[in-house]
Amino acid sequence: MAASWVPTAASRVAGSPCDMRLLFVGAPGVGKGTQAKRLADGRSIPHISTGDILREAIRRSTPVGLKVGLFVDSGGLVPDEVMVSIIEERFAQEDTQKGYLLDGFPRTMPQAVALDGLLLRLRLPLERVILLEYPDGAIMERITGRRTCEKCGTPFHLEHRKPRAEGLCDGCGGKLVQREDDTEPKVWLRLAKYHAETVAIIPFYEKQGMVRRVDASRKPDEVTRAVEDAVAGL
Ligand code: ADP
Repeated sequence: MAASWVPTAASRVAGSPCDMRLLFVGAPGVGKGTQAKRLADGRSIPHISTGDILREAIRRSTPVGLKVGLFVDSGGLVPDEVMVSIIEERFAQEDTQKGYLLDGFPRTMPQAVALDGLLLRLRLPLERVILLEYPDGAIMERITGRRTCEKCGTPFHLEHRKPRAEGLCDGCGGKLVQREDDTEPKVWLRLAKYHAETVAIIPFYEKQGMVRRVDASRKPDEVTRAVEDAVAGL
């Protein structure tokens, strides 16, 4: 009898639709956004980055943007109830039916519990959690050299991922800017928040056997390959 066919990373055609339901977790600056964007684009699933959603709301001065601006710019966390309603609103959009990649939410235990209930109601349970690991001590250099496209959010780095034209995004030509919260004191605060609040959600998913750990200290392309391996078979 022929062995049943199991999809692998290599067997998937880039850009083909699939219904992976993923969560990326990691400290600020580990390269979560870069890796999440690559994977989501390759699989044609929505990349739901709460950081991007919040920055866009702030840029457009929407009611939510006005409410969250101070929290985001200072490197603190936005209150859970605000975040949960943002996520509920995002999941009301049709595109999440065919899969999703959550990046930056949940970041606290109450958010993880709220997300669990929401995904249960929607019958869109998470399948895998990718935990990107990187030593705290090395994160500062990564983040302070980071520049982000103000139009499409693509991240660059002054040393490790230089844009083709200085100060401009390779993809859309938008201007590259340093995020308000990417300065040293704010990065320390974000790291402290990560350890105090976010790390607690990992055992919650570990108990469900969903967590795959990826060493994020390697070159971006190597990390991408490790992430591909970590989602193989979904
Ligand atoms: P990073 O992971 O590099 O710190 P993000 O772009 O994911 O950055 O988030 C930027 C900021 O947006 C956070 O420092 C925080 O202020 C706010 N934020 C994003 N997601 C959440 C969340 N789930 N809960 C609370 N605050 C959030």
